[in-house]
Amino acid sequence: MSIQEYPAQKDSILHILLADGMVRGLLVTGTRTVQESQRIHGTTPVVTAALGRTLMGTAMLGSMLKEENASVTVTITGGGPIGKLLCVGDRETVRGCVDMPQLDLPLRQGGKLNVGLAVGSAGRMSVVKDMGLKTPYIGQVPLVSGEIGEDFASYYLQSEQSPSLVSLGVLVAGDIVLAAGGVLLQPLPGCPDSVIDQLELRSPLLGDISRELAHEPAPSLMRSWFHGLEPVILQTTPLSYCCSCSRERMEKALIAMGREELTHMIEDDLDGAELSCHFCKSRSHFSTHDLIRLLNKATR
Ligand code: ZN
Repeated sequence: MSIQEYPAQKDSILHILLADGMVRGLLVTGTRTVQESQRIHGTTPVVTAALGRTLMGTAMLGSMLKEENASVTVTITGGGPIGKLLCVGDRETVRGCVDMPQLDLPLRQGGKLNVGLAVGSAGRMSVVKDMGLKTPYIGQVPLVSGEIGEDFASYYLQSEQSPSLVSLGVLVAGDIVLAAGGVLLQPLPGCPDSVIDQLELRSPLLGDISRELAHEPAPSLMRSWFHGLEPVILQTTPLSYCCSCSRERMEKALIAMGREELTHMIEDDLDGAELSCHFCKSRSHFSTHDLIRLLNKATR
């Protein structure tokens, strides 16, 4: 398929119910979000896939947050050559970064990107939900495979006691992100075995989510996948790659470095300092005069 043929679907998250409300689910279309992540970080295909899948999983967690200003931070450290993956999401946006955006690995047999090898499976995934004034919720699970989808499923089961079917995917051709997305299905307590059997029967259909999304928009995919399970769309929410950084936040970060560090920066470099945001790469210059002003605000 050529790029021109690619249908320009807007990124969104469908919040769905199946089988008379016995199963809840999310269907994420995130192609543009992953394209933006690739553009900002200049990632190689295997890193685009690893970071993209983590962004899709984080978008799911973010979209289920109830509080207006809540956010969720997902950190994956698997011991593999990609280093650390870090993604932050809220109800309608995500952003992320990775230690080694330029990592290149040979394809797996069958031509698939080797995300599991890049990420590694010897570490853990942590999820921190910040719900404003309340104490943050922290959940941590060992990685299953580093393939990301299975790791999110393990998180839902172990940390949230919610058995889940998770599929996350990014379809990359050369350096071009053709499609990205994910699906989450969670049977609710009391869900009959017959419905769970139906989900398991259909799970192979969901395995290659990005390839499916490249050809068909999410609402019609949902109707064909879950035919007979009475799929209902409760809500459609937008999704985008968006960073909330600002000069003010960077100033706070500089102040938090402390007096000693700031003094070093002022003495070492007569031109001041240039800070770059990890998530969006936007740069901000702080003159020596600015740094002295911040030094006077630092309390330690
Ligand atoms: Zn930023």
